Amino acid sequence: MPRTPVLAGNWKMHCTIAEATALADGLASKVGRVEGRRVILAPPFTALGAVRKAIEGTRIELAAQNVHDQAKGAFTGEISPAMLVDAGATSVILGHSERRALFDEGDDFIRRKLESALAIGLGPIVCVGETLAQRDDGRTLAVVSSQVDAAMRGLDATAARRVIIAYEPVWAIGTGRVATREQAQEVHGQIRALLQEIGLPAADVPILYGGSVKPDNVDGLMAEPDIDGALVGGASLEVEGFARIVEYRA
Ligand code: PEP
Repeated sequence: MPRTPVLAGNWKMHCTIAEATALADGLASKVGRVEGRRVILAPPFTALGAVRKAIEGTRIELAAQNVHDQAKGAFTGEISPAMLVDAGATSVILGHSERRALFDEGDDFIRRKLESALAIGLGPIVCVGETLAQRDDGRTLAVVSSQVDAAMRGLDATAARRVIIAYEPVWAIGTGRVATREQAQEVHGQIRALLQEIGLPAADVPILYGGSVKPDNVDGLMAEPDIDGALVGGASLEVEGFARIVEYRA
């Protein structure tokens, strides 16, 4: 079975409830019925309910941008997996580089979140990627492999098939400096080879590229054999642009 392409928008810390509703309404009418690809929107927590309503009856899916690993307790400011399910989310972004860098999230915590998300039925979208210094030092493969290994090793095949991996080179996020399709494909191929090596159903795990994906570069990226979709930040905040990304032509 070929992998279904996934186009996901990470709205980060943008959008009031009114702004999120307008954006989701626009996308619902433009790409709400698109077939053959999954469209996932990840608004901030406060707008999950409004976006859920706006996309009701469409094929668009709802994701959160983060989750805690514990079910409940004294974790001020955190959100549990069950709360996300209650709010209508079906997926959750984990280990985004901004969370790793700005909020000190490490591989172990991300793995615990992944297991908690899977246990409650949320589809994890796990982000991995190297910094520019790591790439310049020739450590891209080592860094990305250890992040993927920490997230995925030991999962059973059914669980692994529910995970989406997003390769997001840190130097390409929000910088306008997109990885070339060859650079992205090289790492995606290496991730798939690692999944195979650790005994997971590599051919069934979607691997998205993220980092300055725009309407004018998505077609080339999506033409690569191991690039199964895009995790989009800035360009997902505007209806026409994100709709064009969803409607990529490879
Ligand atoms: C992201 O936040 O995951 C991202 C890829 O951002 P941008 O598309 O703005 O580079």
